[in-house]
This record gives sequence, structure tokens and C-alpha cells, in this order.
Amino acid sequence: MQISAQITHFHGVGIPFEIDEMPVVTTSEDVLVRVSLSTICGSDLHTVSGRRGADTPCVLGHEIVGTVAAPTNVRSATDETLQEGDRVTWSLTTACGTCDYCVNRNLPQKCETMFKYGHARSEGESALSGGFATHILLRPGTAIYRIPDAVTDREAVPVNCALATVVNGLLTIGMQAGETAVVHGSGMLGIYAACYLRENGYERVAVVDTNDARLEVAKRFGATDTFNPDKISVADIDAALKDVTDGRGADLGIEVSGVTIGIPNLVTWLGIGGRCVTLGYVYPNAHITVDAHQLVTKCITLRGVHNYHHKSLGTSLDFVEESRTRYPFGELIGKTYQLADINTAFQDAMDQAAIRIAIAPSL
Ligand SMILES: [Zn+2]
Ligand SMILES: [Zn+2]
Repeated sequence: MQISAQITHFHGVGIPFEIDEMPVVTTSEDVLVRVSLSTICGSDLHTVSGRRGADTPCVLGHEIVGTVAAPTNVRSATDETLQEGDRVTWSLTTACGTCDYCVNRNLPQKCETMFKYGHARSEGESALSGGFATHILLRPGTAIYRIPDAVTDREAVPVNCALATVVNGLLTIGMQAGETAVVHGSGMLGIYAACYLRENGYERVAVVDTNDARLEVAKRFGATDTFNPDKISVADIDAALKDVTDGRGADLGIEVSGVTIGIPNLVTWLGIGGRCVTLGYVYPNAHITVDAHQLVTKCITLRGVHNYHHKSLGTSLDFVEESRTRYPFGELIGKTYQLADINTAFQDAMDQAAIRIAIAPSL
């Protein structure tokens, strides 16, 4: 059976997306997936606004859920048989399993031959490589997970970028029940960080953002304290955090805002022995100025983390399945557009109309 796919192409800053049609060519090594739902991630916005470069034309979109669209012998990450019709999500990056990063450094997400969905030039065998399309081809080295039946598409769609990145970052920096955390940024990653920390024993999670509506969302996802730096000074936030930590300051800082004041603020707010993980600077030239004297005298650990180990995706799916009755994950997804309306969808996302704007290619 000949299948044809509709794909949207990003051609460059200021140029509207175009829809193209192409025949689907599969091999026995690929898994063809029909895209059910994709969301516009902050990094898609970085690309479209020109904050970071992209090889064009490019099919953007990497937060995706879909169904297996053709019979396959490829097995899931948990070694199950994948059947046509299975609802799936998958690792953002491929890994070869044999290079130095994969084998010795526990960084398969930085594999020497890594391929990243939604970020590649769309041509030849990479033509079906992004989520803003009716179909995507998953290549060897992708960790594919079946989505638990109880978890809806809306609850699952940002998991393979935003949540898995947060979970991987928090597992890397280390969590300890009873600590106080401060999250810089109340977008999708910050909101996920708040509820993941609470479910891991953090009784106090402060979230900082200049958008009050997003801070209100964070409260529904476990934030115990919220601060808007447009309304309260860095020094007053510091005092408030010290108030609730017996004068110590925060134990853990999570930078997910991507604004360059994020790390300097967190370094100010952390106490002695504090740890800070940054996931937010996914565009170049994000230069920061930090008082390194504070880093030294407070014995602060500062850790950058990019992408995620694919096992964090499995952990993330389990987390959503277990905690979905306590947090309204599906409500983080705002308006859902057809593929043909992708330009309007991106405008909504730029205007921060919702935490995530979605595109359903088969609407
Ligand atoms: Zn993303
Ligand atoms: Zn590798």
C-alpha cells in the first residue's frame, strides 16, 4: 500500500511554514508512526525566532505521540513486540550503543552519531523526521515506549522532551526528600519540575517567573511559594527563602527559564552546599555573569545537562501514569490546530497563549 505524508517545512525566520506532500518509503529497520498530536516546544520557538540556527528546510516538532502505522519487527525499549496501532512515544535522540559516550560516559544522548528528531534538515531519508507532519519515521537506535492505556495523548505529548529532560536533570543533580528547591522559570519544564520534586519528598518548592498566569499554574502543580521578580527584588526573594529554611537558603536550584539572569539569581538564593542544575540555555551565546566568590564560599555545585538518557523517558511515563489524578497534566495543552493552521499555532505559542499549543495532523 502506498502511503503519502503531509509535512510542514520551516524555511527560515519570517517565512511562513509550507505544507508539502510526499510518498512514504519505509525499510524493515524503521518504524513508521502516524502522528496523533505534537506540541510546540520552547526550542521550536528559539528556531523560528532565529535565536538559534537550523538547517533548512526542516520539519520541526519533537514533542510527539502517535500510533505505529505499519507492521514492524522492531522492539520497544522495554523489549516488547510493537504492534500496528500501538500508541507510542520515543526518545528525542538516537544512540548507537557502541561509541564512547554511549558505553563509557553514560551520555547516550550525546552519541557520536546521534540523530535528533525535529531538528534535522529535511531531505532524503531524513524527510520524515519531525512532528509537524502526518507521519514520522523512527530510525534504529530510538528508544520507543508504549504509552500506558490510562494516559491520554494530551497528558503524554510533552513527556518525550519537557518531562524527560526535567527528570533526567533532577536525577543527575540528585534529589533529597525534605530539601527546599527553587525553580527559575514557570514554563512546561518548571511546572513539571515542581510536581516531580513534590512527589519526591520536597515539601517546599518555590517557582520564579515574570508571568503571573504561569505562576498560578505552577501552584496547581505543587509550587508552595511563587515569586514574580518584576514585583519583588532578588534580595527580597533571598530573604523569603532564608525565612523558610532557618536562614540557610535553598538546597537545590533548577534553571529552566533560559534567561541569563537565571543562574546568577539561583547562585544568590542557594545556601551552603547548594546544587544547581541548568537545562534552559538551548541557544548559543547565553553569556552569564556570576559572582564566583559565592560559588566557592558556598561550595556550590553547578551542573549543565542537555537532552536526556532514554531511561528517563520510561521513568517519566511511569510518573505521569502514577500521578495523573493529582495533577491536571492534560490542561497544560491549550488550543489544538490542524496542520494547515501551523502558522497561527506558532503565533499563539509566541504569544504564550498557553503553556503548550498543539497540532493534531489528522484533525
Ligand atoms: Zn523540546
Ligand atoms: Zn553512540
